[in-house]
Amino acid sequence: MRDLWFYDWMSRRVRLSYRLKIMTVAFIGTHMPLIAVAIYIAAAHTSDWSDFVSTVLTTLVATVAGTALTLFVLDQLLRPVLLTARTLEIYRNAREVRALPRHYTDEAGLLMACAADTIVHLEQTLDQIENRDDGTGLPNSKQLLSMMATFIADRAPFALAIVRFTDYQRVKTAYGKDEAELAMSLLARRLSSRVAEGKVLARPGRAELAVLGPTDENAIAHAALAGRIRDVLESAAGELAIGSVVLEPELQTGLAFYPADGESAEALLDAASAAALRSSPAAPLVLHSDADRRAAQSRFELEQDLRRAVTDDQFTLYYQPVVDLAAERIIGAEALLRWRHPERGMVSPTEFIPIAEATGLIQPIGLWVLDQACQQIRNWSDSSLGDIRVAVNLSARQFLDRDLLRHVRGALDGAGVTPDRLEIELTETAAMADHSHTRRMFAALRDLGVGIAIDDFGAGYASMSYLRKLPFNKLKIDREFVSHVDASSESQAICDALIALSRGLGLDVLAEGVEREEEVRHLYARGCTVFQGYLFAHPVPADEIEHTIGVAQLRMLRRKMAPREQAPALRKRDAG
Ligand code: C2E
Ligand code: CA
Ligand code: CA
Repeated sequence: MRDLWFYDWMSRRVRLSYRLKIMTVAFIGTHMPLIAVAIYIAAAHTSDWSDFVSTVLTTLVATVAGTALTLFVLDQLLRPVLLTARTLEIYRNAREVRALPRHYTDEAGLLMACAADTIVHLEQTLDQIENRDDGTGLPNSKQLLSMMATFIADRAPFALAIVRFTDYQRVKTAYGKDEAELAMSLLARRLSSRVAEGKVLARPGRAELAVLGPTDENAIAHAALAGRIRDVLESAAGELAIGSVVLEPELQTGLAFYPADGESAEALLDAASAAALRSSPAAPLVLHSDADRRAAQSRFELEQDLRRAVTDDQFTLYYQPVVDLAAERIIGAEALLRWRHPERGMVSPTEFIPIAEATGLIQPIGLWVLDQACQQIRNWSDSSLGDIRVAVNLSARQFLDRDLLRHVRGALDGAGVTPDRLEIELTETAAMADHSHTRRMFAALRDLGVGIAIDDFGAGYASMSYLRKLPFNKLKIDREFVSHVDASSESQAICDALIALSRGLGLDVLAEGVEREEEVRHLYARGCTVFQGYLFAHPVPADEIEHTIGVAQLRMLRRKMAPREQAPALRKRDAG
């Protein structure tokens, strides 16, 4: 720039700070009179030394005093420039906004005022970008977390409510982003007009608003607050008009308290969001502590009780008949574990098997099931049921046990039954977990002579090429696809494909969970003849199985069926 030519020239030649450059120039400038006097006296060749000395001294004193004063004033006049430079530097390096005066009107004053305005403006823009949600202008999740962190640093108890607009995504899909954002803004405005002073409204997620505020640490205060929030929600949840549509917004709310529900801002935000997701129209406000603490407690108690159940003999096996409708008889049974809890009564395996898995208790329980089932096979072999095959479920963890094979052999030998009477059921998901282990274990079980069934088939996405190589002999079609197969074209497509697949691979196929004749009719016509489900029999204690369903009933049922497709199996597998 042309205006800066001297400054530019100086900057290149003199390696001094700006302030020293000015001082140096001022120093030289103010010494001009002294230099001029010295040159004049030298040129005049005067012989009066006393005159000469006094003139020089006077000039020297005047120059030094003048210089000092000039430098001092100049230095002071430079202060605005230096202060502005320092303020900008601090802002750039630490993003700290330092105040600058704004009321001076000369150029230096203008420099300070403009710099101050620019910094404030910049800071607001950056804050907007980083900490505010652009739809509603409310603090975003980053800002909310930092506000919570401040509370936590002070160990100050607070409550965080998350209000979810359940239909946000649906409104967005149906009417576009602008309308969805408009709905959020309207909701935010309503909430902010009803939220008491001292509380902060924020928007931590696309479909979420948050209310943050200090509270007491006791349960009564929490309950009172929950009540107030419910009132606020009720009054805020009226109809929302967006464009030409009127919405009846459904709000889900979750509440978490610090320090009761978490130690970090992130954990508390997660807790409140999770609680909101668990709420329903019937229970629109869920306290994190309620459900989770109760669930954790109940699980812990169940875990303790489960340990006792193993030693106290609280388990029993029920058996659900497996029928072959074409042969009109019971051909097998699935052993299903039951836990008679001394206080809770019957506890469902879906509730305690996951706990047994997680705690490792599944090992002793699984051993007991194997032994018990084999004993039962022995007992039945002398009954009218004859040599039926009994299926035992294995959980994923049991299947990974290195000693599994030894246990199976031990149970069979202990009861004196042949391996072909026993079938092992493994879910498709468990079979998919570790391919090489599955392959090895299946081969070993096949060599032993035990049957292998893949349970809950269709739900786990096993790949065809993988399945083809596995030595197993039965597919159990998951209840999900069997239920109402007669009415759902999707289930029909899946069942038809699975039946065809079993045929192609030479596998037996069984439909589980049949509850209605129509389901049997559809599947029987497609060639599936083996069934298990409430339509035929519920799981029952071992000694009741003979009384569940008789030949006469099976015959009657079969006569109602249309003739089935008679495509023979392409090849029979050597497994089992
Ligand atoms: P699963 O192996 O899929 O067992 C079938 C479940 O469906 C059983 O539930 C059975 O009672 C139920 N069921 C049978 N027919 C019908 C029907 O027509 N309609 C309906 N709605 N349900 C039907 P259960 O006995 O509650 O067992 C649940 C799960 O617990 C079993 O699912 C199995 O995964 C597991 N399990 C049961 N016993 C054992 C065991 O001894 N060891 C292991 N590892 N898991 C077991
Ligand atoms: Ca099963
Ligand atoms: Ca199943």
